[in-house]
Amino acid sequence: MFSGKTEELIRRIRRANIARQRTEIFKPAIETRYSEEEVVSHDASSLRSTPVATAGQIILLAMDTDVVGIDEAQFFGNDLVQVCRELAASGKRIIVAGLDQDYLGEPFEPIPQIMSIAEYVTKLHAICVVCGNPANHSQRLVSGGSRVLIGAKEAYEPRCRDCFDLALSRGDAPTKDAGLDATGDGANAASTNTVSPSTTDSSAKMSPRAHDAS
Ligand SMILES: [Zn+2]
Repeated sequence: MFSGKTEELIRRIRRANIARQRTEIFKPAIETRYSEEEVVSHDASSLRSTPVATAGQIILLAMDTDVVGIDEAQFFGNDLVQVCRELAASGKRIIVAGLDQDYLGEPFEPIPQIMSIAEYVTKLHAICVVCGNPANHSQRLVSGGSRVLIGAKEAYEPRCRDCFDLALSRGDAPTKDAGLDATGDGANAASTNTVSPSTTDSSAKMSPRAHDAS
């Protein structure tokens, strides 16, 4: 989230199109944050995509493509691992974009499995809205026990390992670390309003702490 992974997927698919390869992007049908038919990245550059209910459907639908893009792959579940194997075995190039950690900082299947069998892995990072360092955690800002909160983009913000607050993600009572909690609240309020959807250096500078430091 906010790391630009969908933009990177779109960039690679566009290059494949320029090379006159047949491409298709698939996304889980539950991911309807912006549009039913398009993979839309946060900065609004978009490509047409096909929503599918299960990973297995991709095999049939991708029969005539050379390059298969899969967005928000963390929502497909473990079936996607075998689907990727079969697609790759049939000579296709597969580009998978997904979150590798959930809101608790735990590996988010099936992305870890896919990373391990892929030839190439690129890890993209957002910018921590609290301190401006590279962020590899999705900080959840609202309580809710389930792993997936669909369409709740504002319920998350990118944070680095140091600024990530596991108790806040869990929705526990206020943490013992009053200092972090206080700045965390301020950053949360600022980030939902001022951090641009695509994570850029400039959005990081808008976070209160980073601004104070500069
Ligand atoms: Zn940080």
